[in-house]
This record gives sequence, structure tokens and C-alpha cells, in this order.
Amino acid sequence: MRSDGSAAPLRDPVAAEPSSGGSAAEGLAALPLREELRGVEPYGAPQLDVPVLLNVNENPVPPSEVVAREMGEAVAAAARGLNRYPDREFLDLRADLAGFLALESGVRLPPEQLWAANGSNEVMLQVLQAFGGHGRTAVSFAPTYSMYPEYARDTGTRWVAGRRRDDFTVDAAAAVALVEREQPSVVLLASPNNPTGTALPADVVEAVCEAAPGVVVVDEAYAEFRRAGVPSALELLARYPRLAVSRTMSKAFSLAGARVGYLASSRAVVDALRVVRLPYHLSGVTQAVARVALRHSEELLRGVAALRAERDALVAWLRGLDLEVADSDANFVLFGRLADRHATWQALLERGVLIRETGPAGWLRVSVGTPEETAAFRDALQEVLASPAGARAQTAPDSDDLPGGSTR
Ligand code: PMP
Repeated sequence: MRSDGSAAPLRDPVAAEPSSGGSAAEGLAALPLREELRGVEPYGAPQLDVPVLLNVNENPVPPSEVVAREMGEAVAAAARGLNRYPDREFLDLRADLAGFLALESGVRLPPEQLWAANGSNEVMLQVLQAFGGHGRTAVSFAPTYSMYPEYARDTGTRWVAGRRRDDFTVDAAAAVALVEREQPSVVLLASPNNPTGTALPADVVEAVCEAAPGVVVVDEAYAEFRRAGVPSALELLARYPRLAVSRTMSKAFSLAGARVGYLASSRAVVDALRVVRLPYHLSGVTQAVARVALRHSEELLRGVAALRAERDALVAWLRGLDLEVADSDANFVLFGRLADRHATWQALLERGVLIRETGPAGWLRVSVGTPEETAAFRDALQEVLASPAGARAQTAPDSDDLPGGSTR
């Protein structure tokens, strides 16, 4: 309050910045930025204020009231000790994560074979920090998750992307040939893959593990959504000590905002990640919240089953419209092919539905929402497909378009 009783005007945070006199771009150009970062935009899908958000593969169901209340209590307890650094080894959380994996996939591991960080993005960056670097190569198969080349870029690792087949599966023989030629120290295999939803059969993962001279990461961010009978690479851990399976609490656990990802591997791989992690990287608050969510795993997995059913219904519905739809083992669906996917995406946005313009030319990706959100998407899409903005592609795009189909 000022002396006359009026409220002080809010400071404009931009105007309050000390001015260097030039534009933001000029300011950046004057900095000794690494050459490979010049002109690069920060990662991220548009965060728009729209009624139906189906663009970043979040879980549409927030933690229940009971879980939220318990998290509040756990955070309050953690807050009382925030003058101290958190548990650097967080073995309690790692034991809870091991318990969840045993419940979810039947694979039992000691806590020392688990690791966690602020999202599986951080876990995989740590993998590249430990096993990538100058003079080394990382390999994956496109179209796939677009953060992979960014981990490589940020760690000075050479990046090589092989191709998936037109149906987005990985050809084991071609994958082995690429691995034998490139001798990568890291192979990144997303299963289920983003943006396509494609899970890898065990024999492809085994073939890559047999051929790879380095670490093989199977990124199972969406594993809990896989269809019945689809295996998890966790089952192969006992046979391949350089295999690592990355998971996240961002999707199945409805915990994207808490930033908790984790990895299961041999003790040796985990020990390597302990070398490169920053001290106390996982806050006491994060650990407390994650442990509460893990106590409620069974309830969360029931929610996942409902989303799987919703996903299967959405795939069938889209196919009923004569669209091409990739088989999905994830909580999203890739569909096409559209003559002008940007026009379709924009027309959906104008109807209050935000999906993702990503993947190969002509395709769009939609996350599975609540039944109400999915219904809103279906209504909007039906309208758009009946308009010029929803025209289908007449011919398949050049195969050269395919590798461009990475996603964030
Ligand atoms: N892997 C894949 C395939 C993803 O799609 C994502 C998120 N979209 C992640 C990893 C990272 O998720 P998080 O950092 O939230 O664990």
C-alpha cells in the first residue's frame, strides 16, 4: 500500500529487467552460446488455455481427493525438514518403485537396481551424460521421441536415426545392421513409441541387445498402457546387464506435474548414473509425493485399465471413419492421413480441442482423455472431416517425409 491508501501498480516483469538496449535475439547472439544451440527454439508443445487438452499425453484424471490429501500431509512432513538436504540415495523410494514393478510386471528387483530423477527425461539425459559424449554415438529409430536427439546434442554425442517401417514397427535385421555399423555406446528404443504408440516385440529388443556394444535403453514411459500379452523389457533385464528400462510416473500415475521418472537396470548401470547426477537432485518434496502415489498403485492401475479401454474404442472409431490409425499400446493414438494436417489441427483448436501436430506428414496425434473429453474430440473431428479443413490425403506422402516425424 502507498501512503494515499492505493495499491501499488504491479511491476511489469519485462520492463523491470535491466535493459541491454537490443532485442532478445541480439542479446542471445552476443553470448558465447555453443554453435549447435544457435537459433534453436526451446522444447515444448504450445500450452494453450483450451477446454479440451489432448496434446501432451497426460493422464486426464487427477490424483483422487484421498491421494491428494495424503500428499499434502506428506509434503507438510517433508517441509518440516527442508532445512536439510534430502536423502541423496532415496533407497526408500527406490524400494517402493521396485515394489510397483513387481506388481505391474512380475519382475522383482532390489532397490539398488532402481534409479530415479526429475522425469524420465532427466533419467535419460543422465544415461547420455554417463555413456555418451564426444566421439561416441547414440542410435534410435524414427519417427520417435524428439527429445532423444536433444539429449545427444546436449551431451556432445553423435546422433544417428535409423528408420522404422511404414507401419512404424522396427525391422530387427535392419536395426542390428545399423547397430553393427555405428557401434553406438547408447541405443534408445521407445516402447510403446511416441508418437506412434507402437510397442516392440521382445525379439527386436533381444536382437538389439545381442548386437549392441553399449547400453540399450528401452523407454517404457507408456508401458502401463500396453495391451494384454505385450511384454515389458523388464523381463529381459536378468539376461542383459547393459539393458536399462526407463519408466515414468508422469502418465499412468497422473503425476506429470511432480516430475518423477525412473529406471531399472543392473547395479553397475545405476552406479554409473550415481556418478553423473547432481548432488541431491531429487527433492525431499518430490520423494514424499512419489511415495504416496506408489502406495496407491493398485487404484491407479485400475484407472489405467479404463483409459486403455477408452483408447481401444477411439482406435476403432477412427478406423470406422476410414482413417489410417496406428496400432496403439499407449495413451494416445496417431491417425491420418490428412491433406493439410495443420488445417485440421487448427480447425479442431477452433472447436476447443487441442491435439498434437506431430509425426510423419499427414498424421496427427491425440491423447486419450476422459470419456467427456474424448466425446468432444470425436464431435469436433466429425465436423472438421466434413469440411475442407479435414480433407484426406489423396496419395501417401513420399517416404522421405517419414523420418521427419519426430515428436515432443
Ligand atoms: N519418453 C517418452 C516416449 C515420452 O513421450 C515422454 C514424455 N512425453 C518422456 C519420455 C518423458 O516424460 P517425463 O520426463 O515426464 O517422465
